[in-house]
Amino acid sequence: MIERYDLSGPRYTSYPTAPQFHDGCGEGVLRQAIARSNAAGRPLSLYFHIPFCSIVCYYCACNKIITANRKRAMPYLERLIVEVAQRGALFDHSRPVHQLHWGGGTPTYISDDEKRLLMAATRKHFNLLEDDSGEYSIEIHPGDMAVSTIACLRELGFNRLSMGIQDFDPVVQ
Ligand code: SF4
Repeated sequence: MIERYDLSGPRYTSYPTAPQFHDGCGEGVLRQAIARSNAAGRPLSLYFHIPFCSIVCYYCACNKIITANRKRAMPYLERLIVEVAQRGALFDHSRPVHQLHWGGGTPTYISDDEKRLLMAATRKHFNLLEDDSGEYSIEIHPGDMAVSTIACLRELGFNRLSMGIQDFDPVVQ
């Protein structure tokens, strides 16, 4: 068993996984896939990657930037918001967003005002549900977040929190 599984594999949290991307996956392929998706008319799921963490966890293989300089987030968010507008223009705006997820990194790393900015841009370019019927979730780091942020997340429409727990032993924690 050890020999069998002692090899590198794609990250199970990413779909499609990295090996499925190659030089043949250009803009045309993406636009065709989006056109097929619009024709099907199903609800949308959106994922946002916020790659910043203030402290490193040594087991972690996520795509992340460890920095105490919180000013580094805004240039990233500015580009992300441009991408939200570009992607939003390609999708049929009537398609409701049933699922939305902010992952990372530590999405709660960004300030509450930055969270408001990103969610406002998303609301502008995608059809978010306003009746709390969607699954709008966010990964949080309970050791690195103000309690007041919970109210902010609720105000923005989040109704699920996700915490990756590696060990319940309080000494390890
Ligand atoms: S907080 Fe999460 S993303 Fe950041 S280093 Fe730790 S496990 Fe990785």
